[in-house]
Amino acid sequence: MSYFRSNVDQMTGYIPGEQPKPGTPIIKLNTNENPYPPSPQAIAVLRNLDSEWLRRYPDPYANEFRRAASEVLGVPVDWIMVGNGSDELLNVVVRACADLGRKVAYPVPTYVLYRTLAEMQPAHFIEIPYEENFQFPLEKLIAANGAVTFIASPNSPSGHGVSLSDLRHLAANLTGVLVIDEAYIDFAEETALPLVKEFENVMVIRTLSKGYSLAGLRLGFGIANPELLSGMFKVKDSYNVDAIACLVGAAAMQDQTYKNECVAKVKASRTKLAANLKQLNFRVWDSQTNFLLVQPPTGDAEQIYLALKERGILVRYFKQSGLEDKLRITVGTDAQNQTLVEALVAIVE
Ligand SMILES: *Cc1c(COP(=O)(O)O)cnc(C)c1O
Repeated sequence: MSYFRSNVDQMTGYIPGEQPKPGTPIIKLNTNENPYPPSPQAIAVLRNLDSEWLRRYPDPYANEFRRAASEVLGVPVDWIMVGNGSDELLNVVVRACADLGRKVAYPVPTYVLYRTLAEMQPAHFIEIPYEENFQFPLEKLIAANGAVTFIASPNSPSGHGVSLSDLRHLAANLTGVLVIDEAYIDFAEETALPLVKEFENVMVIRTLSKGYSLAGLRLGFGIANPELLSGMFKVKDSYNVDAIACLVGAAAMQDQTYKNECVAKVKASRTKLAANLKQLNFRVWDSQTNFLLVQPPTGDAEQIYLALKERGILVRYFKQSGLEDKLRITVGTDAQNQTLVEALVAIVE
C-alpha cells in the first residue's frame, strides 16, 4: 500500500538544474537566467514597498501587472492571465484540459516539464521527435490532435524558433488547445502573439524569468481569448500571484528600455560566444534564445560538463536520447563567456 496515486508512484518528478547558494563563487550558465540585474525601477518598487501590501491578500487577477502587460503588448487586460511563473500556467492548462482520454502532445526534445505535468495529472502524452536538424513535425502534430499541444518557440534545448506559418497552420488544424511557450521570446526575431487574435484555441505563454532577469520573483503570464481563459481561471489558486511579484513585475514590464538594453547585450555576447566555440571546432546550433546548444568536437559532452563543474562553471548536460553528446550553455556576460572559453581550451586540448 502506497501513500500515493499510482501515477505519482511511477513518475520521476521534474529535476531542475542545479541552484547553488547565492554567493557561491561559480559561473552559472545552466538554467538560462539573465546575467544582468533586474530593472532599477523594479528594484525601487521592492525597496519602497508599503507593508500594508503584505498584510492583505493580493489581487486574485494581478491587475496591476495585467494593466502594464496590456499596454506593452497591445492586448486587452481580460486577454491576460498571470501566474506564479509560467510553469504554473503550463500546469493550469494541463489541469483544465487534459486527462487519460485527452492527450497532451509536443515535439521532443523540449522542455521536460510538459511530460512531468502530464504524468502528474495523469494524462496520456504523445512525444513526436523533431526531424533532422529540428525540422518541425507539423503533419504528425496535426495527426496527434492533442487536447493540449505544447510548442516551446523558441525551443529549449535546441534554441530554434518555429515559424509563424507552421504555428498558424497547426492552430488552424487542431481541435484542442495550442500552447505556444514563448519563455525566450525576448531574444527571438518573431512572436506568435498575433495568433491569439486569429484563433480562439491559441494561448501564448511568457515569463519574466529570462528576458527581465526576474527568475526568483516567479512571474509569468498567458495571453488568449477570454473564452479560453475562462476555463483556466477556474482551476488556478485564488491568490496565485503574490502582491510583491505583481507590483515588482509591473514595474519591470513598464521599463522596456532597460530590458531591451540587457537583451541587446546578451544577443551580442551570444554571437561572440558562438564564434569562439566554433573556433574550438564545436558544432553550434543557431539560437533565438539566451543559450546555445553545442556539440563538442570529441563528443564527450558529459566529461566536459564535469570538468567545467570542477572549475566552477555550471552548464547543462541532459542524459537523454539525442542529447548525450551535447551541452546547453546559457549566454553570460562577455567576461563569464571568456572564462568559459578559456576553460574549454584547457579541457579540450
Ligand atoms: C524557463 C522556462 C520556463 C519557465 O519559466 P518560469 O516563468 O520561470 O516558470 C517555461 N518554459 C520554458 C521553455 C523555459 O525554458
